Amino acid sequence: MFSYEQIQRSIKDQPLNRRWFMAYAGALSSIPLLSRTSWANSNPTFSSNPFTLGVASGDPDSSSVVLWTRLAPKPFEAAGGMTNESVRVTWQISSNDSMSNIVASGTTVAAPQLGHSVHVEAQGLQPDRWYWFRFRAGDAESPIGRTRTMPSADTLADSLKFSVTSCQNFEQGLFTAYEQMAKDDLDLVFHLGDYIYEYAAGKNGKVRTHLGAEIQSLDDYRVRHSQYRSDPLLHGMHALCPWVVTWDDHEFDNNYASDISEEAGIDPVEFLVRRANAYQAYYEMMPLRARSLPSGSDMLLYRGIQFGRLAQFLVLDTRQYRSDQPNNDKRSPLNEAAMASNQTMLGVPQRNWMYRELIQSQSQWNVLAQQVMMGMVGRSKDSDALYSMDQWPGYAHERKAIVKFMQERAISNPVVLTGDIHSNWANELRIDDRLTDSAVVASEFVATSLSSGGNGKREPAYLGELLANNPGVKFHNEERGYIRCHVTPKSWQSDYVVVNDVTQPGGKCETYKSFVVENGSPKVQPA
Ligand code: FE
Ligand code: CA
Repeated sequence: MFSYEQIQRSIKDQPLNRRWFMAYAGALSSIPLLSRTSWANSNPTFSSNPFTLGVASGDPDSSSVVLWTRLAPKPFEAAGGMTNESVRVTWQISSNDSMSNIVASGTTVAAPQLGHSVHVEAQGLQPDRWYWFRFRAGDAESPIGRTRTMPSADTLADSLKFSVTSCQNFEQGLFTAYEQMAKDDLDLVFHLGDYIYEYAAGKNGKVRTHLGAEIQSLDDYRVRHSQYRSDPLLHGMHALCPWVVTWDDHEFDNNYASDISEEAGIDPVEFLVRRANAYQAYYEMMPLRARSLPSGSDMLLYRGIQFGRLAQFLVLDTRQYRSDQPNNDKRSPLNEAAMASNQTMLGVPQRNWMYRELIQSQSQWNVLAQQVMMGMVGRSKDSDALYSMDQWPGYAHERKAIVKFMQERAISNPVVLTGDIHSNWANELRIDDRLTDSAVVASEFVATSLSSGGNGKREPAYLGELLANNPGVKFHNEERGYIRCHVTPKSWQSDYVVVNDVTQPGGKCETYKSFVVENGSPKVQPA
């Protein structure tokens, strides 16, 4: 069986494999003379392994999946150690782990304009099955990655296992939790944002150190992404199953809202140039489809991922289109500014798309995979309860409308998945969470940070008061880790996996708590 250890071993330089070479030669001979790839160097030489960032896959549907890599022999240099020429990269996808049954292959170009990244959309695959893939450039061969397709649209699969992760500050902790995740036998990973942090070296912590100053230029963002992805646990996990990613703020800049910085006096044109740099580097590094290719400072990231009829995931972008945080982004009561009807987290086109997808869905479970917490947690029973304006309380009118929509349209089993907040939560969502005798409409599972914040408390001092004053909150914890979900037609289980120490190697993972939602009832119950 294909193991995580195998992947880590195969990250190292590999000798030229004869079968691969023959396939490569065959692929080259089939390229039409005037194809797009003809101008690229088909025989590059590398001073060292160009596959230091590993391989990844993502955004699968029932017949295709994105295969990703990036050529970077020197990943911490601006151009990744590549010259300013395009390079031909061949790819293969096989139905077995020995790569002996190639079902599709081809040639693509790694261009300097996109940081020598490669995004292949492998087509014509069978639904609901595992595949293995690899790349070759010149005489260098990538490690083998494993990926899978989704069941066909009309199939009700009996099981889906995935994880939810977010917030992996490199300076504040090791990515130890990915060691456990690699053993979880998952179909998918959802990364809900704060994949990188933009801050200057040393600003966040000392477990490890960011390279350079706060990132601004395209080269800065590329190097920062490379620094994160060179972590073997992170790229090792990317090689094990397809990932579905969306960003939060730190992929660009803390607590930004569309083109508005959290800081005063930032020139909006310069801010958008920086956003273009951030978005491009993000696209380059992630296994995204060509539909997400950035256009200037815009990038289309919201999209649907369908696991047959079992689950539909609407992956949201709550940063690019949102209106500015009300009340100067300070913790505030649910006042007029927070409740204003023109406040939007999603923007009208994304919101309408989401509503349309929800109405048309034939899926048993309808999941919003997004960034900031929907549960309205004020931590106090008094009318002066204060809420985070960067999260859904700052966009309370729209949040209310969404939950009301789910209730009125009787959306089947709505579940919200969330990151951002660096703590674990299991919440029951109501149209107004303060009206605790009203019906529960949806459940929300909030994944803690993978490393951001360093080691946290299992039971923080305020826990008792928090649970007493916020009846919608069924669980809260401040340790590091991720959520592992197991979904069947009958039930949804969320396991909260926590790590006892992210500040040094050897941290241990355990499943601290598990919660279940039964088909037909959004109530969150202990497993
Ligand atoms: Fe974060
Ligand atoms: Ca965040």
